[in-house]
This record gives sequence, structure tokens and C-alpha cells, in this order.
Amino acid sequence: MERLRRLGALVSSERHEAFVPQIIIRSVVIVLLMAALLAGFMLVAARKADELSIARQQKLIATVLEQNFRSIAHDQEAATVWDDSVDELRKRPIDLRWLDDNLGIWFHSYYGHDEIMIVDPNDRLIYAMREGRRDDIAGAARLVRITAQPLLTELRVRMRNGLPIRRASAVLTPGAIDLGMINGHPAIVSAKPIVSDTGERPQRPGSEYIHVSIRYLDGSFIADIAGRYELGGGRFAAKLPDDPGLSRVALRTRSGSLLGYFVWEPFLPGTAMLGQVAPALGASLIIVFAIVTWLLRRIRFSTLQLSAATSRAQHLADHDPLTSLANRALFDKRLGIELARVAEGGRSLALLYVDLDHFKNVNDHFGHPTGDQLICALSRILSDIAPDDVVARLGGDEFAIIHFGDPAATSAETLARGIHRALARPIDLGDGEVLIGASIGIAVAPRDAGSPVDLVRAADIALYEAKRGGRRRHAFYTAAMGERVRDRNGIEADLREAMRTGEGLDIVYQPYFEARTGALIGAEALIRWQHADRGTMLPDQFIPIAEECGLIETLNEWVLEQACLAAARWPTGTISVNLSAVQLRNAALAERVFSILKRTRLSPARLELEITETSFLDSSEKCRSSLGWLRDVGVRIALDDFGTGYSSFKHLAGLEVDRVKIDQSFVSTIQPGKPGSPVIQAIVGLARLSGLETTAEGVETEQQRLFLTSIGCAALQGFLLARPLDMADIEARFLAAQAGA
Ligand code: C2E
Ligand code: MG
Ligand code: MG
Repeated sequence: MERLRRLGALVSSERHEAFVPQIIIRSVVIVLLMAALLAGFMLVAARKADELSIARQQKLIATVLEQNFRSIAHDQEAATVWDDSVDELRKRPIDLRWLDDNLGIWFHSYYGHDEIMIVDPNDRLIYAMREGRRDDIAGAARLVRITAQPLLTELRVRMRNGLPIRRASAVLTPGAIDLGMINGHPAIVSAKPIVSDTGERPQRPGSEYIHVSIRYLDGSFIADIAGRYELGGGRFAAKLPDDPGLSRVALRTRSGSLLGYFVWEPFLPGTAMLGQVAPALGASLIIVFAIVTWLLRRIRFSTLQLSAATSRAQHLADHDPLTSLANRALFDKRLGIELARVAEGGRSLALLYVDLDHFKNVNDHFGHPTGDQLICALSRILSDIAPDDVVARLGGDEFAIIHFGDPAATSAETLARGIHRALARPIDLGDGEVLIGASIGIAVAPRDAGSPVDLVRAADIALYEAKRGGRRRHAFYTAAMGERVRDRNGIEADLREAMRTGEGLDIVYQPYFEARTGALIGAEALIRWQHADRGTMLPDQFIPIAEECGLIETLNEWVLEQACLAAARWPTGTISVNLSAVQLRNAALAERVFSILKRTRLSPARLELEITETSFLDSSEKCRSSLGWLRDVGVRIALDDFGTGYSSFKHLAGLEVDRVKIDQSFVSTIQPGKPGSPVIQAIVGLARLSGLETTAEGVETEQQRLFLTSIGCAALQGFLLARPLDMADIEARFLAAQAGA
């Protein structure tokens, strides 16, 4: 059972615990996914921004380079579109110093041009400047031929074609510009005609002096641009750089041949943004993660608490609080499940109903706490003895065991014997020991019943039979038992009906006589029931049923009232009425008897109440005081059937009763040819010593009458003297007796 309980708790908590990590895992995955998504999105956005920025920078740089190329031409026009220059170049000899200051070295010092060459209308080099110094013309002439010649030719063609001087535009004169390798340097080469700025120095188109300006790209030019536009590491590279992170713009001559690259470290806004945002983002993610984890831990904790509370509540709902055994609800559930298994062809099982014998006495005599202790002790015994079975407390001292064994009947028999054996030893309750037995009813499924209701009923019937057979017994359910129960239930229903209508119930009166004189001294009221189908029913056939189903008090009060009414009409004599043990348990017994006496106007002294020895012993202190009050007003108490129970002489000596009725079973031992019973003699002797009267019941022979009279038995009752009579007859007998007297 304990195992089952643990299993139940485990199953429910497992369900919760599986649920909790699932939430945690799912939530963590969601958070991680969201974080990854966010990070991915930011990375993509950053890359996109970087790509866009690189493209923009490349475009910008290409434009800037283009503009810078043009600015060289623009620079040149500061001196090439100038009347003075035309004039100076017409002078012979040409003033080289003037050229230095205005068309040569000046361009280097003022604009930073690296080389200047001036050619005459026949493309002969007349002046050369290199890096701030006048250069050797012979050396430079070769350079002109190689590099600048195509530009010169192109320019002269354009001049001849009569391209006008555009005064409105930024560039005043036509020019030819290209990139090329100059002295091993990539360079911009720009050719400009030297023309009049006023138009007052006419020249034949195509025959102008041409000013060629060269700007190296690998020197200060690109460094300047890089500085101006903040391009980290901006420089010229002849070959494609290995570093893929560098941005570049290819520099090509107009004919398309690759000169090299302008490379720089591009500004990457996305990466920069990432660099700035990443720590904050990381921190936020960590915080979110921490919050989610904390929340989940809280949820997990609350869920676990909830699951613990749920399983506690479930346990409380399913278990008996005193013993922690399964209660009736769980028992019903388990029995249903197990029987369904049996119905599907599973192993047979046995249901044992265990009921403590006289448990009420323990409660009455030792108090409820002791009773509880005893119940707990028994629950431990049963759990230990049947560790693999379902042990349940159905209420009070009633236990049930769903026993699994193979074969179930044989195994249940062993189990029942084991329970009896365990209970054969006194149970230690701490402040004392109690010896108590149990009755056990056993039903086997599917042999005796298949449904829970039927199996429980069968076990209950078997328990009833076990109890009937005496205590400390066990009984297996049989079909005959079932038949008896059906029979009994029929009687119960009919009795209820008879009591409701008053039909069939009757009272007969059996007289008893003074032994010595044979005088009629009283009569005992005995109930009879004329049953429509069963004929005359004797009390033994229906009184126990009436006691069980709670009808006995009403029935007996009716008998008492009828008997008192009858006796009130008799001139003399005592009326004896049998009391049931159930009535003795009722504290209001004395009150009820008084009120009947009052109603029937019968003198209490003429009423004798018969109680059996067993019910007398079973009765509580309260009931005995009840009997004491009755005796105080003159009602007499007789101990009926003395000799069939404990035959305790203590009660005779204790003067708690007025009369002892020696049971017929003793009287019947007085037989012809045998000596009279010494036990009867002892009872009569002791009763007399104790001041009690004696009546012998069931006197059937003359020999019995003589013997009983000879030993001093005061009164006699039996078929020899008189059978039970109806009301009219007994009245007549009393009237006759009075007349005779
Ligand atoms: P009891 O009080 O001992 O009553 C005597 C029983 O013995 C009666 O049986 C009676 O008919 C029978 N009897 C008397 N003389 C002889 C005899 O010489 N030979 C034999 N064989 N039997 C004799 P009855 O009427 O069947 O009653 C049986 C028991 O039922 C009574 O035993 C009494 O305990 C109980 N009883 C009867 N009427 C009532 C009643 O109204 N209420 C209650 N609670 N119990 C009753
Ligand atoms: Mg009696
Ligand atoms: Mg009797």
C-alpha cells in the first residue's frame, strides 16, 4: 500500500517535474532564438550598412579623384590662360627664370605639381621642371614623347577644330588629361594650351605652346585626398592588396590599362555601430536572460509547490487521516481497476473484509484515543502482513484488503490465518496491552462476483457469517450465504411492513409457577409473527434481524406496552418482558419504561425485565445505572438464559439483578437415570445465598420438576406446566387462579 501511495505521489510529481523543465527548455530556447535573431539581424544590418558605405565611399573617391584630376587642369589655367605667358613665350630668347616663376617651379611650390613641361607648337620641349627644380630638357624630352605625345596630338586636334574658350565654365580652355606611369610613378598628366586671356594675342589654332603638368599619384596627392576625406591608410597600390578588408578604386588610363589602385581602410558604420552597441546589447541580453531564468525558477518553484500541494490534497482525498491507509474512495477506485483487469482475463483476486471483534468495548472502556491507537496498530499489522496488497480503512474498525495471490482463494486463506496469528499476541498500545481478535469475510473474483458492488457485498456477507460463527474467524463467501442474506433481506422487508400495518404480529404469554406450590405467579411475553408465506415465525427467526436493522426498539416497546396492558387486566401476577441488547445501550431506556408503565397504569412491581447475561455484560455503565433506577422503583431484572454465556457468578453476587433464569440447556441435562446436575444445584444455592430468586426454564419432564423443586429452585417455566398462551387464555388462567385461591 505504502508502495502504491509512493507510486501515486511519484507519478503526479513526475508529471509536474517533466512539465517544468519543458517550460524552462522551451523558454530558454525562445529567448536564445530571439537573441540569435536579434544578433543576426544586427549583423546583417551592420554588414549591409558597411557594404552601402563602402560603395558610397568608392563612388565618392572615384568622384574625388576625377575632380582632383580636373583641378590640376584648373590649376594650370591660372597661368596658361594669360596674355603674359603668350607674350613671354614669343620672346627670344625665352626668359627661363620667368618661366620658373610663372609656369614651372611656381606650379610646384604653389600647387604641388610634380613635373611641368612646356612644348612649342612643334611639340618640342622648351622647358622642364621636376619636383621644384628646372630639369634637364634632353632627359625630359623622351618622357614627353612617351607619355604626353598622344595628349599633345589630341589637344592640338581639338584646338584646330576650333573649340572655343568657355569663359563661363570652371575650365576655360580645352585640355587633354590621362593617367600614366611617369618616372616609375603613377601620375596624372594634364596638357593645356597656353592662350591669351583677353583674346588680344591671336594664335593659329593648334599652334599654341602647350603646358603639361604631372602630378604623381603615389606621393602627396593621394595623401592629401586621404587626409582631407579622412580615409585611414589611403595610398596608392600598384597591385591588388591582399587584405580583403581594404577598399579600393582602380586607376586606369583612358585606354583602359590598369595603373594600380587607390586603397584605403573604409569607414564601416555598421561595424562601428556594432562595436558601440554590442556591449550594451550583450548586457541587455544577459539581463533579459537572467530575468527569464529567475522567472522560470520562480515558476518552477511555484509549480513544484503547487504539485506538492496537489499531491498532498490528492493524498488527503485518497487516504484515511488516522492511519494513512487508502480510504473508501481510493479503495473503490482500485477495486474497480483491479476487477476490470480480472475481467480482461487477469489473475484472480480476493477481497478480505476485516472487522475487529468487540472493538466498541475498547472504545467504551479505554476511551477513544486508545481505540485510535488500536486502529493504527492494526493498520500497521495489516500493512506489514500484506505489503503487496491494497489495504484500506473503510471506517471505524472496518478494514478491507484487495489481495493478489495465485490462486487467490488459497493465498487469501493463508493471509487470513496470518492475520489471526498476528492478533493472537496482545497489541502493545504504549500504556497497556490489548488482546483483540478480528473476523474476516473473504470473497474471490471472478469466482464469487465480477463487479465491485457484488464482490463487496459477498465479502460483507462472508464477514457477517464469520461473526455469526463466533469471533476470531474467517469465512469464504458461498452461494448458500447469499441465499441466506436474500432470505434475511426478505424477512426484514416483510417485518417492516408488518410493523407498519400491525398485521401478523402477536404476543403469547407463557406462564410460570411457584415450584413449591404450583401456583401461577406470572407470565412471560413472547412475540409471534404470523407470516403470510412462512407461517408462524418464532422470535429467533426475526428478532436478530430486527436488532440488526434498527427495528428492535420500536418492536419491543410495542411488546412491552401490550404486555403491560394485558397484565394490568390480570388480578395478580408478574409480567416478564424480554429486552434486547440494543435497548440496553439506549440511555433513555428507563425513561421509556416509566412512561409505558404510566400509560398502562401497571405497578412497576409487577414488571420483570429479562436481559441476557451477554447483553448485560456488554452494556455500559450508563445502562446499568438505567437498570438501577428501574430497580429503585420496583421493576425487577432477571438474568435470562443463565448458563449459555459466561455464567459469571460475580453478577449474581453483585446483586445487580433480582432473578436468575436457568437456561433450558441445563435443565435438559436432568434426565431419567442420571443424577441431578450439580451445576444447577450450585447456581440455585449461590443465588439463594445472594438473595436472588431462581426460575428454571424449559421444564419438560416431571423428573426435572421434582429435581428443581427439591434443590430449592423458586419458580418453574416449561411446556410441562404450560405452553405459551394467547391473551384471552392467560387472562382466564389468572382469573381462575384467583377464584381458586
Ligand atoms: P427466552 O426468553 O428464554 O424464552 C423462552 C423460550 O423458551 C421461548 O421460546 C419459549 O417458547 C421456549 N420454551 C419455554 N418452555 C419450553 C420448553 O419446555 N421446551 C422448549 N423446547 N422450549 C420452551 P421463544 O418464544 O421461541 O423465544 C425465544 C427467545 O426469543 C426468547 O428466549 C427470548 O430471548 C426471545 N424473545 C421472545 N420474545 C421476545 C421479545 O418480545 N423481545 C425480545 N427481545 N426477545 C424475545
Ligand atoms: Mg425470556
Ligand atoms: Mg430464556
